[in-house]
Amino acid sequence: MGTRLVVLPGDGIGPEITAATQQVLACVDRMFALDLALDVHEVGLDVLRRDGSTCPPSVLEACRRAEGVVLGPVSTAEYPSAVEGGINVSAHLRINLDLFANIRPSRSREGLPRWGRTPMDLVIVRENTEGFYADRSMHQGPGEWMPTPDVALSIRKITAAASSRIASVAFDLAERRRRKVMAVHKSNVLKTTEGLFLREVRKVAAAHPGVQYEEQLVDSMAALLVRDAARFDVIVTTNMFGDILSDEAAELSGGLGLAASINSGDQFCVAQAQHGSAPDIAGQDRANPVSLILSAAMLLEWLARRRNAPSLAAAARAIDAGVDRLLQDASTRTIDLGGPLGTNAFTQSLCREIEAHGRH
Ligand code: NAD
Repeated sequence: MGTRLVVLPGDGIGPEITAATQQVLACVDRMFALDLALDVHEVGLDVLRRDGSTCPPSVLEACRRAEGVVLGPVSTAEYPSAVEGGINVSAHLRINLDLFANIRPSRSREGLPRWGRTPMDLVIVRENTEGFYADRSMHQGPGEWMPTPDVALSIRKITAAASSRIASVAFDLAERRRRKVMAVHKSNVLKTTEGLFLREVRKVAAAHPGVQYEEQLVDSMAALLVRDAARFDVIVTTNMFGDILSDEAAELSGGLGLAASINSGDQFCVAQAQHGSAPDIAGQDRANPVSLILSAAMLLEWLARRRNAPSLAAAARAIDAGVDRLLQDASTRTIDLGGPLGTNAFTQSLCREIEAHGRH
């Protein structure tokens, strides 16, 4: 069965790292006979200037028809309001495709300098549809407003249903890993909302007696990630805490340019790097494409589990292993990791590496 993937290059370094990801997908497509079909659609500032919207309706329709999506980062800080066509593509897909689980792994690698004190191999499972994300958390209208010119308010939404389903994703993942889940919260201050989140996570924990369950306040968690990230396996948390802690974990593991993720739901999955559009290095062949390439590998793995398709899983493993081998050697690292390789040279090396070792 063929697999249709939509590719949305985005803004800033997005077009460079999505082009790199397409090359790697084409490489594993040939090697593992995946029968991938990549359908590229423009989103972001260029299409806003031309057609009046950063995300025309045809994009969402194409995503709904596809088996998966690869989304480059988007320069949301530069977007005008939604009424002026500035649709946050990432938020738009998360809400409309009900991508409630943002899965963000961080792993240190043999030989690659890391900034945390211990090695790490953890996954942050971040609730993706509510919390403090006022631009998308309400059915109608934003979740923040100004009752007077000098008073601004934000509403934080937490529901039992969203808390329960994200906890289930975390415990299912832990069952396939080291069987530990840490819930990260701030229930000492946000007693009602965090209390509800923890109530639901505890219920799911009780249904998984084989998984060790612990809880940690978010502020001390930020310190513990630096001090002893080795102790964590799966971390489950609400939307904004997950966003912040995952950038911290990625940087501690070696760099934000390695930070892969998927946004997944029951029906759809979008591969998306954890970082933003890095306008400071856009167009200079300096971006590390690993974040999006490994996100695409996570998408292949997600599809493999869903369809019981070993060739998709083998392709994902070949990409992971190829990246690991290149990162071991300082001469085949990208510029952000202190190496000599630009985006294009690294991508070509990775394709050669996968072709040389991929099927073993
Ligand atoms: P950023 O993540 O884009 O960049 C932070 C720093 O990390 C920069 O110095 C950048 O050069 C570096 N960096 C990031 N990715 C890299 C890579 N792959 N290789 C090498 N270096 C990399 O964060 P920011 O500067 O706060 O945001 C820039 C824009 O991205 C803003 O418009 C913001 O709204 C948007 N943003 C988008 C997303 C998304 O699309 N999901 C997420 C976060 C921020």
